[in-house]
Amino acid sequence: MTTTEPSRIIRVAVPVPLHREFDYSVPEGQPLPVIGARVAVPFSGRKLVGLVVALNPPDAHDRVRPIGALLDAENVLGGEILGLGRWLSSYYQHPLGEVLTTLLPGAARRPVPLKIRRPESWELAAAEPDLARAPRQKALYELIRTSGGALRAEDIRAAGFERTHIRGLAAKGFIRKSENGAPARAAAPAEVALPVLNAEQAAALEVLEAGRGFHPVLLDGITGSGKTEVYLRFIARVLDAGRQVLVLVPEIALTPQTLARFEARFGAAAVMHSNLTDTARLQVWLKVRSGEARILIGTRSAVLTPFADLGLIVVDEEHDASFKQTDGLRYSARDLAVKRARDLDIPLILGSATPSFESLHNALVGRYRHVLLTERAGGASLPGFQLIDIRGHALEGGLSEDLIRAIGTHLEAGGQALVFLNRRGFAPSMVCGHCRWQARCPGCDWPMTMHQRPPALICHHCGRRQGLPESCPDCGQNALIAVGSGTQRCEDVLGERFPDVPVYRIDRDTTRSQRRLEAQLKAIGNGQPAILVGTQMLAKGHHFPDVTLVAVINADGGFMSPDFRAPERTAQLIVQVAGRAGRAERAGTVIIQTYQPDSPLLTTLIGDGYRAFARQELETRAAAELPPHTPMALLRAEAVQGEDARRWLEALARHLGPGLSVYGPAPALMPRVADRLRFQLMITAPSRRLLHQALLPLKQVEDVPRGVRWSLDVDPYDTY
Ligand code: ADP
Ligand code: ZN
Ligand code: ZN
Repeated sequence: MTTTEPSRIIRVAVPVPLHREFDYSVPEGQPLPVIGARVAVPFSGRKLVGLVVALNPPDAHDRVRPIGALLDAENVLGGEILGLGRWLSSYYQHPLGEVLTTLLPGAARRPVPLKIRRPESWELAAAEPDLARAPRQKALYELIRTSGGALRAEDIRAAGFERTHIRGLAAKGFIRKSENGAPARAAAPAEVALPVLNAEQAAALEVLEAGRGFHPVLLDGITGSGKTEVYLRFIARVLDAGRQVLVLVPEIALTPQTLARFEARFGAAAVMHSNLTDTARLQVWLKVRSGEARILIGTRSAVLTPFADLGLIVVDEEHDASFKQTDGLRYSARDLAVKRARDLDIPLILGSATPSFESLHNALVGRYRHVLLTERAGGASLPGFQLIDIRGHALEGGLSEDLIRAIGTHLEAGGQALVFLNRRGFAPSMVCGHCRWQARCPGCDWPMTMHQRPPALICHHCGRRQGLPESCPDCGQNALIAVGSGTQRCEDVLGERFPDVPVYRIDRDTTRSQRRLEAQLKAIGNGQPAILVGTQMLAKGHHFPDVTLVAVINADGGFMSPDFRAPERTAQLIVQVAGRAGRAERAGTVIIQTYQPDSPLLTTLIGDGYRAFARQELETRAAAELPPHTPMALLRAEAVQGEDARRWLEALARHLGPGLSVYGPAPALMPRVADRLRFQLMITAPSRRLLHQALLPLKQVEDVPRGVRWSLDVDPYDTY
């Protein structure tokens, strides 16, 4: 370390879990970086990439270490995202260094230059080349000339030319490699005949177009009501005005149809999701940042992308849980979309058939414009609901005889049936009929799920996997019984009952392979009679136009869970699954099996619809002082010795500022996972400002006991 002139000290946010930044000096002769540039710095014997957050901080130490290298000449995140990073760090109480590096794509967290890679392209270098004796080269020269003066190597090859032709022209100096690359010879978007908007869609578009500046609209429209069509129309306006658009979607894998629609309408759209390689992701990020990509469609983390000139954000299926990050920086992409739209003073569309209670609340208090689409676009009719009381009924694979009969009727009429069951595997539990032994996960103290394809006992909480025992490990009898039904068992029973009809299972076990999923979706898309069995994946985005019957195997579980969000989530699932029925000309039927046909939650939902259900539940939440009326944070702690975790939460509670309601520590809903005992402390406050203030002292907390892991979740989604 050397003493440095104060004017050459920079403050750097480095990716370490500490609530502070670190000062470094810039060696003489090197330019002073700008705020937001990346620097490589030595840190505890490692070399880390950090971001410059301040120049010449007044309280800097004068003895600091020099930086390793300055990596950028400019602020790589841009002013808006750098500001967003500071806000994220403060709102979610996450160390700034970790936040800022999260904002960088993985490939940019290494000390490499950030450059848009151009595909190899060739451009004209001479005006009147003499190519009389080289007809192929002359033809190639002409091709490049008529293509606007530059062409990609791949397009040259596609036109039937060889490397030797390129080399020949280049050697004579008639063409040269293009620095900027040539544009793709993408087919212009096909001329699609746009549907005539119905009255509700037209009214929605008018509301959007009348807005100025920050203008949040909750587009609350039933499945198939034409929300996507409304987005597309408004997006076209924004693009025509020369601005960029961000569209957030829950899961790309399950929305190929939506993607195809965007591409058909606008030509190319940049796509960002978790399956991209680091390099591909960086390229998309750079093109959005430079303004070259006009539309970005992406999952959760796409909301953190810097744009050159963002003019609109659309959040499709805004109620979806996947928008909330559940570890590390626990942000809500939906909430960030609102924050960004407000900061940039641009319009925002939150679209859903089952809006989150947060957004409904904001609409009810007038913060969002609430626009309803109540009819199916293109005249398809809405499904009707039917309850089947399964008290005292024998079930096979979860299915009652009445339901099996109904499925048969729909298949005979040429329709498809969709069976929704929120449990993967064969059976949720395995017991011995002789001695009552039950297969339980030793780490979680919870029943293990029996799987048949491939055979295994799997703990759905910690992932532990064991072989399926042939006989009871306790008493040795051959008396093992599968209890209850998961999707595999349901699939088996349906296969036996309807041997001539294909059964497609769609759950996390069958959709790991994107190719298999696409093949299944394609087979279903041919419209022949078929049965689809699956978990909530079936409820997401995908349209099944030939499904005429939707069956919900058991609606009760979700309504009885102690998680305060369970009724909301269950209602959303039921309505979303139901929305898959009767999309085309055929009306659909939705059958719900229940042990509680008189449950007020279920009858309100079925009889009066999602909006009435939501209003009723929102009142319950208000009375109980729960979100969205009352802001909440959750402190979680876990340890092998449960007492350590509990005592740590008690210690944390003493740090909290005044004015809060604190509940706990209490065991989490899943009290033990993978040998660790879990506790939580629920915190609510009368206002967001107060909650924020009261949580601030947690940043100073040090000396976490050995073996204890803890975290803070602001606006938790899952409260267990
Ligand atoms: P949502 O996004 O609300 O589920 P979509 O925009 O996907 O609804 O529309 C459902 C179906 O109706 C799509 O096949 C779409 O092409 C079609 N559609 C949308 N708007 C109209 C319209 N105004 N007239 C005819 N068909 C329409
Ligand atoms: Zn036994
Ligand atoms: Zn387990």
